[in-house]
Amino acid sequence: MILRRAILVLLLLTGIAEAQPARRHMVAAAHPLAAEAGLAVLRDGGNAVDAAVAVQMVLTLVEPQSSGIGGGAFLLHFAGGSGRLAAWDGRETAPAAAGPDLFLRDGRPMPHMQAVVGGRSVGVPGTVAMLEAAHREHGRLPWARLIEPGIRLAEDGFPISERLAQDIASDMALLRRDPAAAAYYFDARGLPLPAGHRLRNPALAETLRAIAAQGAQAMARGPIAEDIVGAVTGHATNPGVMAATDLSTYAPRRREAVCTGYRRFRVCGFPPVSSGGVAVAQILGLLAHFDLPRMEPLGVDAAHLIADAGRLAFADRAAYLADPDFVSVPVRGLVDAGYLTARAQLMDRDRAVASPRAGNPPWRETRHAPQMQEFEAGTSHVSIVDAESNAVAMTTTIEALFGARIMVRGFMLNNELTDFSFAPERNGRPIANRVEGGKRPRSSMAPTMVLDGEGKLYAVTGSPGGARIIGYVAQSLVALLDWGMTPQEAASLPHVGTVGGAVELEAGTPAAALEPALRGRGHQVQVSEMNSGLQIIRVTPDGLVGGADPRREGVAVGE
Ligand code: GLU
Repeated sequence: MILRRAILVLLLLTGIAEAQPARRHMVAAAHPLAAEAGLAVLRDGGNAVDAAVAVQMVLTLVEPQSSGIGGGAFLLHFAGGSGRLAAWDGRETAPAAAGPDLFLRDGRPMPHMQAVVGGRSVGVPGTVAMLEAAHREHGRLPWARLIEPGIRLAEDGFPISERLAQDIASDMALLRRDPAAAAYYFDARGLPLPAGHRLRNPALAETLRAIAAQGAQAMARGPIAEDIVGAVTGHATNPGVMAATDLSTYAPRRREAVCTGYRRFRVCGFPPVSSGGVAVAQILGLLAHFDLPRMEPLGVDAAHLIADAGRLAFADRAAYLADPDFVSVPVRGLVDAGYLTARAQLMDRDRAVASPRAGNPPWRETRHAPQMQEFEAGTSHVSIVDAESNAVAMTTTIEALFGARIMVRGFMLNNELTDFSFAPERNGRPIANRVEGGKRPRSSMAPTMVLDGEGKLYAVTGSPGGARIIGYVAQSLVALLDWGMTPQEAASLPHVGTVGGAVELEAGTPAAALEPALRGRGHQVQVSEMNSGLQIIRVTPDGLVGGADPRREGVAVGE
């Protein structure tokens, strides 16, 4: 840990040698083998969506703790020709039989980890169905070609990375309880497999072969679906209520991106059921009232304003953001320039907002009780730009590290349902993000694209990190757009953020030195490990320039 911290500080302080801009295309993903698989697809004449499919299949194998075909994903697509955006929602759904009491025990919310581990937290996976829908609309190469790299690597094996080895070791107590995971991630003596060990996954190869042949149908009915339902409902200590019909009726959604102006740019994010796009748009809409470009990136003035903009955005998020198929979310009102100008009046250059509350945005129909703070960790982000300026920003997740800690047919099942509010109501008023059958749990994932004044692609960004994603992405945008940083500088910048309460400063970095000054302005301050995984691509006159977060193992590769 100390060594990791020292390396991080070194990387953050020295910056990393920036590669030459890429002339044609680029893929930024959380693992080199996944990025290479995407690049090979682009080289073969595939486009950004084709590459995203290949990347996801390989990530399922090489970064199984973060995302995969047992989870959900959001894919934001930019069509280089028309300049049109599409937001593909592959979020997991709650089984039809799940109700508001799913995470209550004796009428009270269960302890978080007791809810996470087991079948109870597993949502109906949406990633493959979403990718299939996006591929049908935008893809070029045949679907089966895109699954091949994942199949090949699963058969031949891959070396366990440092991060995966650490995660297996740190999660040993929980992972070993699942028989399939115990057999896969541990040696014959029950010890965690070390970094460098070549790991083969024949079960996943077989699953991927079925997906190559039948598409998402392979996950919706038949033996794989039966095993998912069996593992969820048959869990020994914490069974869930998933039925075969939940899988056979799952449908991805195509939604409209949320776009707002910031300085001379248009920033487009992912709409509800993610809170990510709206919250990032609100933070930027509030910051637009201040002269960030003249402030020091790691100075107290910028940190104070970024924190307060975040606190105001999180107050609205707690009251209004949930599945738009179930509650009315006033997206237009929440990002309305007039509303945000009024909200910005609550901010003061020198003093923290005393206790931020949800506002009253125009066009709202209901107001729910605010949801209490939640707890999250995990996920992966992929950014891709192809030779025709089509782009993909995809954030993909199984929620927690190794999800629900259930392995089925070579992949991990998500625990996405713990992104719902455990408490269904507060003071007799319903909470928008309570559990309901068929509903999608609120997310924080924020795959984001920036367009320039002419509607041309300018940048692609996104990160894992639970609710902290919102702050990571907002900070990366300020770094790129206000401070003119390169993608690598933006990805490496020490974090200052919030998930609504205290200001969080990244431990072991120069940001932590802001603590006394921020306290002096009335903030509560917390110095935390902030494990972002930003993957950024910028379109420049010289070509594509990438940046990968030094806190994880991602790379940006192009040519
Ligand atoms: N499940 C979380 C979400 O959808 C993401 C978890 C993470 O990034 O660690 O917001």
